[in-house]
Amino acid sequence: MNSIKLDAHAKINLTLDVTGKLDNGYHTVRMVMQSVGLHDDVTVEKTDDGQITLTCDRPYVPTDDRNLAVRAANAFFAHTGLVCPGLRIDICKRIPVAAGLAGGSTDAAAVLRALDTLFETNLGLDTLCEIGLTLGADVPYCLRGGTMLAEGIGEVLSPLPAAPHCLVVLCKPAFAVSTAAVYAQIDDHMPDVRPDTAGMCQALAQGDYNGVCHRLYNVMEAVTAVRHAEIGQIKDILLSCGADGAAMSGSGPTTFGLFHDSDKAQAAFDRLKAIFPDTHLTEIL
Ligand code: ATP
Repeated sequence: MNSIKLDAHAKINLTLDVTGKLDNGYHTVRMVMQSVGLHDDVTVEKTDDGQITLTCDRPYVPTDDRNLAVRAANAFFAHTGLVCPGLRIDICKRIPVAAGLAGGSTDAAAVLRALDTLFETNLGLDTLCEIGLTLGADVPYCLRGGTMLAEGIGEVLSPLPAAPHCLVVLCKPAFAVSTAAVYAQIDDHMPDVRPDTAGMCQALAQGDYNGVCHRLYNVMEAVTAVRHAEIGQIKDILLSCGADGAAMSGSGPTTFGLFHDSDKAQAAFDRLKAIFPDTHLTEIL
């Protein structure tokens, strides 16, 4: 096999709490992560020119070794000791960028999975997660996917019962947010109200869709939503169109609503898309 194409799925946060700060400056978190259908297409092909080249259909995504997918390939060869014969990576980008949806991390995870198959290294998920963690705290989650409680800096993963199936309307307003900048500000802006993570886990265990929707909560909104009125505006539109719950994902600015009713989801999608072109109608995976 010389070439492989994988779906690299986005994630949303059903909850996100910041629980502390380590001496190295990283924050510790407790959050419930959920994969959604929206995905990038990542194609990895062996070549024989000794180079790793990357193409992407979005001109503002870096194609050199600032791209997490290229860094994932380098990390794979460093870990395995294999000599890279040459690789062509192509990313068809659908996941909004710098948006709180782990777009770069999921591309990196897809490259690691692709290389493990192409080079028949059979590393297994645990080792791929170790390599992934050197690239970013969300990469291990992106390798595993599904519904997970993430703790530590995001890398300590505990599988949760799958979330009840529903539709998801995701909307990214026309500005990007730097995850590092938002984390740098959260210490001074921590809200008094914190997510009910235990309650969310219990609602998932019971398949209680309304319980999940009522517990969507992200402490990062105290930084991002306070600065950007669009997040409140998007939530208002989602809820007025009949979303069963709404929250911001990650450090934002993407804000999403969950819907059981497909007509309501379509109406929310249509209204938001007219204002914010980077709006997507997808589903819980
Ligand atoms: P997270 O939720 O993990 O914090 P994010 O969704 O907020 O991530 P990304 O979409 O990963 O953010 O993009 C953050 C930055 O990473 C972008 O500004 C971009 O320059 C860079 N980047 C590197 N590799 C990629 C990639 N494969 N896809 C998108 N952006 C990438």
